[in-house]
Amino acid sequence: MNEKRLRKRIACERFNILIREAEEMWERDKELSKKYVERAWAIKLRFKLRLSKELKTSFCKKCFAVWIPGRTVDVKFDQREHIIEYVCKECGYKKRFKYK
Ligand SMILES: [Zn+2]
Repeated sequence: MNEKRLRKRIACERFNILIREAEEMWERDKELSKKYVERAWAIKLRFKLRLSKELKTSFCKKCFAVWIPGRTVDVKFDQREHIIEYVCKECGYKKRFKYK
């Protein structure tokens, strides 16, 4: 594996760890939890990581709240239009996806 790919892989792992830590921290310290997400986001930008759909919906891009369904995010399904909508409970930011 070349160095660039290796670095990207490490960055990806760090991203995952930060999101997990943000989840664990949410109940105890929201602000610290958001800092973890913010740091993860900075890593994503720096290494130009491509996130899986799962990771894309694991936090709010606007306020950096980690998204825990039912707690910090509402997930709505529009079965007729085949759309999933994520609504951040912290700031109201909406993210929509088409699904098949
Ligand atoms: Zn938000």
